[in-house]
Amino acid sequence: MTFKDLGLSAPILKAIEKKGYIEPSPIQGKAIPQVLKGKDVLASAQTGTGKTAGFVLPILEKLIKQEFKRPVVRALILTPTRELAAQIQQNIKEYSEFVNIRNVVIYGGVNQKPQVSALRSGVDILVATPGRLIDLNNQGHINLKKVEMFVLDEADRMLDMGFLRDIQRIMTLLPERRQNLLFSATFSKDIKKLANGFLDNPILVEATPENTTVEVIKQRVIRMDKPRKTAYTIKMIEEGDWQQVLIFTRTKHGANKLCQKLNNKKITAMAIHGNKSQNQRTKALAQFKKGEVRVLVATDIAARGIDIPLLPHVINYEIPNISEDYVHRIGRTGRAGANGVAISLVDNDELAYIRDIEKLTKQKFDKEIIEGYEPPHIDEKDIKAPKGNPGQNRNRNRNSRNPISKPGNKKHYHNSKNSKKGGNRGGGNKR
Ligand code: AMP
Repeated sequence: MTFKDLGLSAPILKAIEKKGYIEPSPIQGKAIPQVLKGKDVLASAQTGTGKTAGFVLPILEKLIKQEFKRPVVRALILTPTRELAAQIQQNIKEYSEFVNIRNVVIYGGVNQKPQVSALRSGVDILVATPGRLIDLNNQGHINLKKVEMFVLDEADRMLDMGFLRDIQRIMTLLPERRQNLLFSATFSKDIKKLANGFLDNPILVEATPENTTVEVIKQRVIRMDKPRKTAYTIKMIEEGDWQQVLIFTRTKHGANKLCQKLNNKKITAMAIHGNKSQNQRTKALAQFKKGEVRVLVATDIAARGIDIPLLPHVINYEIPNISEDYVHRIGRTGRAGANGVAISLVDNDELAYIRDIEKLTKQKFDKEIIEGYEPPHIDEKDIKAPKGNPGQNRNRNRNSRNPISKPGNKKHYHNSKNSKKGGNRGGGNKR
């Protein structure tokens, strides 16, 4: 199958060629024709599958068929974080290089003035995070009355970040007759409810792992004595001579502390989390990508959406209390056909989290024990759920569908020419 077979026209095909894409990814092959037909789409796809082009390309195709004297917002793409918003806009810019379509991105945490003046000059595609969109709408800077296509991107993360009410409010601003696309990596009961609420007879589209390319995300789970995690992390990095390692912690404080300890050992490390400014995060990510910093320590909130080519090592220094986050974390490895390893260091307090992750991902981990780092003995019956972050519901994943049931069999699309801008993300208390 080629992009041309999907029904895209010459100027868009030219931009795709310039990006270096050879064939549509599975999600693109399935989603693009449906979007072109005007169908509502419910898509299961996470970052790395090529989902952005899956919705942007057909939106562009539909928009170029109409002529407007002065552009009005005809497509609205709502996404949870500033970084994702910036990435999507970057993609739109590239895909629309040879067509006359205007796009604007708006997100919080930065001065609104340039965004307002961009909106004033006219816009066909608006990419937005919910808070800033509502803000600017309340101030009368946005007209959403002509929106024909509405995309809810990373819907699961939107709900995690507490955007449900904002989404509902935004939907009241849109015309009733419109095409809706919902993208989500996981499908909890809440996502299904949200989807049922606004999608009309949606076509289900899945990024199934139907690839032949061998791409292995190896997952290792090591039971570990909690106080020894730092020492073991340092040992792995030093002995393995790992040069590019992404480490996840659950909290901002944990990220800072670990970062400091690594730096003390002359392992260069920077942290990205909710307390860091946009500039700090962008800088940390850029340095990490260039190889100037060996370790990036991140909380889940901060790391979602970052696209790092050929990332060989991910360490879960702390296990996420939300199982879906595990899926996103290990999705950072093994991109672009590279083999990656995701190592989880699990202390006794986190065994319940691992049990939840095993349920969600429908796999049973072999739990390694390393001499000198073994945790105190614990009876199976004593494995209890530790208290999670306030307001977060660990059991939410009970109804989730597993997007990575075959973890070693997942193809990620990454275009090495395209290095994405770093950014940051909002929300999250401790993360
Ligand atoms: P996404 O899942 O949308 O974040 O895309 C992940 C990466 O895959 C991005 O760097 C895209 O530029 C790249 N990409 C998207 N579609 C294709 C394709 N058909 N072939 C190769 N790379 C692609």
